[in-house]
Amino acid sequence: MSAIYEPKGAAREYSPLALNYIKGCDHGCVYCYVPIMMKRFNKDYVHSDVYIKEEKKLLKEVESSAKKFANSEKQVFLSFTTDPYSSFNQKTQLTRRVLEILLNYKIPVSILSKGGYRVLEDLDVIKKFGPNIQVGGSLTFTNPDDSRKWEKGASLPSERFDALKILHDNGIRTWASMEPVIYPDQSLEIMHITNEYVDAYKIGKLNHFKKHEEKFDWTKFLVDSVTIMRQYNKSFYIKKDLLEFKPKSLWLSEDEVNMDYLALKNSFSSVTA
Ligand code: SF4
Repeated sequence: MSAIYEPKGAAREYSPLALNYIKGCDHGCVYCYVPIMMKRFNKDYVHSDVYIKEEKKLLKEVESSAKKFANSEKQVFLSFTTDPYSSFNQKTQLTRRVLEILLNYKIPVSILSKGGYRVLEDLDVIKKFGPNIQVGGSLTFTNPDDSRKWEKGASLPSERFDALKILHDNGIRTWASMEPVIYPDQSLEIMHITNEYVDAYKIGKLNHFKKHEEKFDWTKFLVDSVTIMRQYNKSFYIKKDLLEFKPKSLWLSEDEVNMDYLALKNSFSSVTA
C-alpha cells in the first residue's frame, strides 16, 4: 500500500489524497475521531501514545510514494492520524522532512493543524511551495476556557488565529476547518474575527455527541454561516453532514457543495525558483 492514498467517506471531503506518517497525537481533543477509526484495526490503540516507524524507514516509504505521485494534479492532506504540528512533531521535525520530500516531487499540499505558532517553524519550507500549499487551522472556539476543556494540548484560539494571520501576511493561502462546531455562536464569531486573513472555509457541524448536538438549531447555523460567508465574499464549502439541514429557501452554488472546490491544483510549472 502506498503512503499517499485516496481517503474514503467523510475524510474524502478534506482532500483527494492524504498522507499519514505519525500515529497518535498529544493534543488530547475530547472530540477526536481518530481513536474510533484506529480501534477498528487495533483494539489496544491509545491515541496519546504517539508512534512512528523507524525514521529512516518511514522517510524512505514517504519518498518512494512521493515518487509515484510526482507532479500530482491532486493535493495531499496532512494528516488524518495526527496533528502535523503536535508537540511530538516539535521534537522530531518530521513534518518538515515530509514537506521537503513533497516539495521535491512537486506535490501540492494542504495542512490542517491546531498547533498555532508551531506551524511557523516551517514557514521557510512552506513558502517554497508558492501557490501549491494551503495551511488551515481547526477553529473551534473563541473562549480559551472552552478550548482548554475540549482540546487541552492544542494551542489556544487566539494563537491559532494569529498564526493564520502571519501565514496570510507571508503570502500563504489559508483556510479554516469549522469542525467540530461545539458552540455555534462561537463558530459564527470566529468567521467574523478571521475573515480578513482566512481565504476559504470548510464548514461542518458536531457529530458523535448526540445529546450536545440536539441542543442546537443546525439549520439556523447553516443559514447564518452562509450569510457571513457572503457578507465577506469568502469561498466556502458546506460539508455533507451540515448540508442535510439546508432549508429549501437557501441557495448554494455547485462549488459550495463540491468537495474538491477548495482543493489546490498543481501549478508548480509556474513557480519560479
Ligand atoms: S489535534 Fe486532531 S488528531 Fe490530535 S487529538 Fe485533536 S482531533 Fe485528534
